[in-house]
Amino acid sequence: MTRIKDGLAELVRIDSVSSRSNVEIVECLEKRCGALGLVTRRFPYFDENGVEKINLIALTKATDEIELALVGHTDTVPYDPNWTEATNLTERDGKLYGRGSCDTKGFIAAALTAVETIELSKLTKPLALIFTADEEIGLRGAKKLAQAKPLRVRYSIVGEPTSLKPIRAGKGYSLAEVTVRGREAHSAYPALGASAIFRASRLLKHLESLAEQLKHDRHAAFDPPFTTLNVGLIHGGTAKNVLAGECRFTLEWRPIPTQPSEHLINLFKQAIDEETSKEPDFQCEVDASRQDTGFETAPDSPLIKLLENATGLESGTVAFGTEAAQMKTLGSEAVVIGPGDIREAHRTGEFVPVAELERCAEVLRQSIKQLCSA
Ligand SMILES: [Zn+2]
Repeated sequence: MTRIKDGLAELVRIDSVSSRSNVEIVECLEKRCGALGLVTRRFPYFDENGVEKINLIALTKATDEIELALVGHTDTVPYDPNWTEATNLTERDGKLYGRGSCDTKGFIAAALTAVETIELSKLTKPLALIFTADEEIGLRGAKKLAQAKPLRVRYSIVGEPTSLKPIRAGKGYSLAEVTVRGREAHSAYPALGASAIFRASRLLKHLESLAEQLKHDRHAAFDPPFTTLNVGLIHGGTAKNVLAGECRFTLEWRPIPTQPSEHLINLFKQAIDEETSKEPDFQCEVDASRQDTGFETAPDSPLIKLLENATGLESGTVAFGTEAAQMKTLGSEAVVIGPGDIREAHRTGEFVPVAELERCAEVLRQSIKQLCSA
């Protein structure tokens, strides 16, 4: 195997499913970065289960003003224990199979190879490698860094499988739990109670028309070009002959970056107020637990131009959340790019094509050279 494949095999061998600690993979990355003469800094925290997680930053220079950051998450989604290749990188027909090969250890291996093959002493501007924890369970590691703001970063290249297409904008991701309450009663005497399910159904009607309304605020770069919403789960009632006392549903929406996440919540609260004015004891709680913002970098940003030239591919957008939004908080113009296809990620049999992996290292090498040399 070549150096880049060996490097990827080493990362895949370490089981770094999000529920586990990522200390082992961080130690491995620290060693590799240390060997290149990079300065490393750990940002540890304990997750909600008391498991230690670490965000690791490796710098060409001890400074907090960074010109370019290459960002990759160290965690992966879980894998089927029967998938024998999951932690044993296997090559077949020009593809490398293993958990994380595509999402996102392939990018990390490419970034390390890029740095290994550059004369770092010739760089005039500081470069950082940022390795995050808990991306797959809500971008938690990146959010910690965005809060702590240990660095200011001018340009970020965030690794995610995009088949090397530069992604210059992404939709946000928001989630709320809605609990509607009613009054239980025997279903033979509905006038004695109030059905939480019927109440919820009125809110769902509002949401259906809000989904239509959202279509008018357009952002042409996206497909579909507007904020979408979904009620994916609903649960209510205790028995067929009892008026439901409670009904809960999830409300998920993906705002275009030009629209604040609160926009839909505000519209939804107006709908709730409307229902309450018709029925004074109408009860509903909205717990908006997640509001990840999207990101957008201008099409004429030097970073986007550079990556379009290096890959020969026009930049695009994605409808899912990435760590690019947190990098924006650190002052960055950001782009998302990486080897492998997002449709192959998160599956048994996840793979990265060798040619794309090697091409990615070359693209990152060019990016470092152009952005970090005067
Ligand atoms: Zn990923």
